[in-house]
Amino acid sequence: MNIRTRLVHPPRIPGEPARAVSTPIYQTATFEQQLDEGGGRWDYSRSGNPTRDILESQLAALDGATRAFAFNSGMAAVSATLRLLQSGDELVVGEDLYGGTNRILLDLAPRTGVVVRFVDTRNLDEIARAITWHTKLVFIETPTNPRLRVADIAAIADLAHARGATLAVDNSMLSPLLQKPLELGADIALQSGTKLLGGHSDLTAGVLAVRDERLAERLAFVQNCDGTALAPFDSWLLLRGLETLEVRLSRQQASAQRLADWLARRPDLKAVHYPGLPGHAGAYTHYRQAAGPGVVLSIEVGSTTRARQLAERARLFNTVVSFGSVSSSICIPGAMSHASIAPAERAKRGISDDLVRISVGVEDVADLIADLDQALREDGAAAPTTRPARSLVGKVGSKGKAEVA
Ligand SMILES: *Cc1c(COP(=O)(O)O)cnc(C)c1O
Repeated sequence: MNIRTRLVHPPRIPGEPARAVSTPIYQTATFEQQLDEGGGRWDYSRSGNPTRDILESQLAALDGATRAFAFNSGMAAVSATLRLLQSGDELVVGEDLYGGTNRILLDLAPRTGVVVRFVDTRNLDEIARAITWHTKLVFIETPTNPRLRVADIAAIADLAHARGATLAVDNSMLSPLLQKPLELGADIALQSGTKLLGGHSDLTAGVLAVRDERLAERLAFVQNCDGTALAPFDSWLLLRGLETLEVRLSRQQASAQRLADWLARRPDLKAVHYPGLPGHAGAYTHYRQAAGPGVVLSIEVGSTTRARQLAERARLFNTVVSFGSVSSSICIPGAMSHASIAPAERAKRGISDDLVRISVGVEDVADLIADLDQALREDGAAAPTTRPARSLVGKVGSKGKAEVA
């Protein structure tokens, strides 16, 4: 069965009497134990819940995994992955990671005695040098957020495996519909379900998908110990998000490509970063491992002032730290999602203060282009519109949100 078909036909909960088409929400903490029958399949929702089980089977199918785990946020999934390490273990990670992941690696991970090494994941020689016999885990993102830098998953998997290390790939930027890390040799595929999988900015969720049964057992143990599994109602929301993942993604991606083409033709921008553009440095590697360029792009607009103006004037783009939703959004990473990273470190990663990240939603693409066109106008005045300009409360300039979400 094609995954597109499977996503709208989730398996039924065994024994569900009403034969409900929408997976029932088992909003319960406990399940009555049948002592004479060995306790039954479910006992406590922290360790297992029928609604979550259906979600996890869909997530496993999506990633080509044997098992998947649904967490209450992407960060909980990241934490569970790092729980595989113990004091003295070495961890090799990309230097261009999600701000929240970076925060754990700089603060919490070293406290447990784990040694963290940051590498440029585009450079295979650098990665090969960083991996030692003490390296237990290699953790990367591709393409990275917000610079859209591309790493070669299969080549990095080989380097990790040659030294007995596990490779985890944070695939939140593309979703398993566009890139399947496990098929490319990774051992753990990670997703923030908050982004494309949920797709509606109405829940936080995270996913780990694996093929190896021992790794699965360990992650199930960690998830149950820490109590980080996704709640029944949120599991249902994510199941509903998955049903439209393919149609949302194809529409959003087609629009992102059109927007990127249009932006790349503008003489007033310093750079447009998107793997779907012919000049993109990682395009060749990207298309060997992914089925499309995704829905996120970033642009360098020339100055901080112009970046802020763009965010404030754009009416159809919410100024938010997330991406992948049905509604388009804008983020200034230096001031928002990546503000917790020191300026020198940001510069090293190519996150200049004029960098603007754009996530493309399902709106009409001509509307989106017209909106960005008026927002990028240099004359200082926004074009007249029938829609009132959004209040600036909560926008970057007024709040200066200086923390990663
Ligand atoms: C958002 C994000 C996360 C964290 O996910 P949450 O659901 O916000 O906890 C991790 N990695 C990447 C690449 C992300 O974009």
